[in-house]
Amino acid sequence: MPAATDIDATHDPATRSWVEAANADDAEFPIQNLPFGRFQAPGERRWRIGVAIGDQVLDLRRAGLIRHGDMRRVLGLRPGARQALRRAIHDGLREGSSSRTAWREALVPMGSVTLGLPCEIGDYTDFYVGIHHASAVGRLFRPDNPLMPNYRWVPIGYHGRASTILPSGRDFHRPRGQIKSPQDAAPVLAESQRLDCELELGVVIGRPNALGRPIPIEQAEDHVFGLTLFNDWSARDIQSWEYQPLGPFLGKSFASTISPWMVTLDALAPFHRAFRRDPGEPSPLPYLDGKTHRTHGAIDIRLELRLQTAAMRAAGLPAERIGRSGFADAAYWTVAQLVSHHTVNGCALATGDLFGTGTLSGRDPDQAGSLLELSQGGTRAIRLSNGEERYFLHDGDAVSLRACCERAGFRRIGFGDCIATVLPALD
Ligand code: MN
Repeated sequence: MPAATDIDATHDPATRSWVEAANADDAEFPIQNLPFGRFQAPGERRWRIGVAIGDQVLDLRRAGLIRHGDMRRVLGLRPGARQALRRAIHDGLREGSSSRTAWREALVPMGSVTLGLPCEIGDYTDFYVGIHHASAVGRLFRPDNPLMPNYRWVPIGYHGRASTILPSGRDFHRPRGQIKSPQDAAPVLAESQRLDCELELGVVIGRPNALGRPIPIEQAEDHVFGLTLFNDWSARDIQSWEYQPLGPFLGKSFASTISPWMVTLDALAPFHRAFRRDPGEPSPLPYLDGKTHRTHGAIDIRLELRLQTAAMRAAGLPAERIGRSGFADAAYWTVAQLVSHHTVNGCALATGDLFGTGTLSGRDPDQAGSLLELSQGGTRAIRLSNGEERYFLHDGDAVSLRACCERAGFRRIGFGDCIATVLPALD
């Protein structure tokens, strides 16, 4: 963990870039961020590796920084090589750099490229670290037993499906599935009427571990390349009928949307903070606890959930924020704890594996990261400022996730956009 929590010259808030848009106060991709992603240049089909800077993408191969187009080779770099690459990109993009003339040719306007999945995704695990979300959903599904007793000891997760993780901007069709209302004796096959979104972060695994070798918590962040936004679309009516006893299945596996940019743990170093539990909560077992983890284990990230209905789009109205929260306050378990727990049985993580954190809801009702919570299980309408109401998602609704990190004395960094629109169910 110490490697990722080191603050160095690449975080200096005074550094400016010769890419002018990166210096704007509200820029999501200032020179202190430098997130990695994959893009197709205009007229091309192959994927290139890029780093976002202001309103441009730096093509790493054309800049002479790498000699291949394989993101997994970047993800798998050892910490020293990974940090050296970050420093080289930072030094070449800073104001006054001698690389400016040569690197101009390696810049592509972000608006002209197609952004894709940030990497080829291997296995996908979805966790459930949002304790306020778990408690609220538990109250709806099991009023007598909202939070299972294992929740405070085990970072709960399930193995999800990687093949339906979609890049931001790829729309998807409303799913069908088995649905059974409480008053009916038998289920029917029908379109989901309770389609929901989930405000999550994605955790991209960088370096693998050997089969049988758990990753100690103090080294866990060395195995994480970076974080993305992640919308784990959920059909609540399919989910509530199928989820016991083995957990989520078809209510989740029809689509999840991931943002194009991986914000590296190196960029997130200034935003780490102490891992804290409320008084009265149990201490984690020793394999989920450590000295550096206690002082730097949590990451402060502000998150937002936005909705734009078809009517809002037609009227030229922007997406409206319907929920917000913060990662460090919403999450009962940290990124490092997820990595250590996932491998404690000897499970081998591979480069390009993805974890979803689970829905990140805050303490208060307006801080929820899903419509299930915002509408209190579909019983209270969410009122939008144009007069429309929602319990769950309608066809034509576009959901976008946003996130940023802010701390006095550092540049604000953003995560870009994670957006998709719900299309009608296919015939
Ligand atoms: Mn989820």
